[in-house]
Amino acid sequence: MDDAVRFLVRARAGRQCEYCHLPEEYAAFTPFHIEHIIAKQHGGTDARANLALACHHCNFHKGPNLSGIDPVTRRIVKLFHPRRHVWPYHFVWAGARLIGRTAIGRATIAVLQMNDPDAFKDRQALIAEGVFPTP
Ligand SMILES: [Zn+2]
Repeated sequence: MDDAVRFLVRARAGRQCEYCHLPEEYAAFTPFHIEHIIAKQHGGTDARANLALACHHCNFHKGPNLSGIDPVTRRIVKLFHPRRHVWPYHFVWAGARLIGRTAIGRATIAVLQMNDPDAFKDRQALIAEGVFPTP
């Protein structure tokens, strides 16, 4: 993956995590990762359609996972796919807490641990500064 592709992925994402929307400029651990949505171990490629910008927290917890268990229905569902799914359809903010509106949203929040206490506190601080969530 060359620098031009990295630049494109970062710009396409608006320099925010494509899962939790944390802005890269306010994150503790930077730069964010250029993530393979379908991991290479599952046959994912370096094609731009398979790449997303992910913060350290989301990238670490997603790992090579492609699916999770919806905590409401207990069914196995695909994780949120930043290139194929529309974020506001699957997620909504309730203050600093991210709510899954769909099975995909709920399973993604669970697998990526998007509401863990540290992420929640970081978002509360950004909300207090008036820089989150971004439009
Ligand atoms: Zn994130």
